[in-house]
Amino acid sequence: MCGWVGVFERGDFGRPPGASFPCEQCGARLRYRDEATAVVEHFGDGEATCLMELLERPDFAALTVLYVGVSGPLRGRLRALPNFFECTLEPPDNNSAKPKRRSYQDLQALGFAPASFDWIFSSHVMEHVPDPDRAFAEAHRVLRPGGALVFSVPMVPSGDTVVRGEVSDGAVVHHLDPKYHRSPQGRSLVFNDFGEDVADRLHEHGFEASVRRPTGPLMTYSNAIVFAARR
Ligand SMILES: [Zn+2]
Repeated sequence: MCGWVGVFERGDFGRPPGASFPCEQCGARLRYRDEATAVVEHFGDGEATCLMELLERPDFAALTVLYVGVSGPLRGRLRALPNFFECTLEPPDNNSAKPKRRSYQDLQALGFAPASFDWIFSSHVMEHVPDPDRAFAEAHRVLRPGGALVFSVPMVPSGDTVVRGEVSDGAVVHHLDPKYHRSPQGRSLVFNDFGEDVADRLHEHGFEASVRRPTGPLMTYSNAIVFAARR
């Protein structure tokens, strides 16, 4: 994230590993650093070493980004960009003031014109989308040619995607015991446990996809997998 070099200590053992190992300089925890690494690898042409360095490049800083969600350390770094947009996934409370450049979106039916963005980022959101193929198709539609969809999901140790639930006629149908993750809205149902086969599904939607498993000494602790897909 910030390029700091040193010893990363796990810290509070009550947290999952991905939410541990904070950076001593910027505080970013393992999962977010893995995501930042994928962004740097995708956009950095092998030259940038960290997100802060990438952000100093005028060509990268000028890109139009859609950040899915309204929190996280990556957002903290990106939100100052001139062409930064973000979206919430829950319908807004009518009484709350809507910040500029923030909108409510259904990832399966985005309210944007085709070719609106250079990149879309989400962190541990896709597993909560009932029909991820619709979300991938929508991402492809609103990205410009050459644009990128970068997203992380919890890693399944082996095997292909397991569909835990679906929405049929407006009702949730569970195929497995419901699993929830904590979310800003309280809790969110996990519809899919994703495997690396997601790269093939992205390919079917017209993306050139790569799987970015975390590397480095802490990789065995990471619980995230990042996909970077070029339109
Ligand atoms: Zn840092």
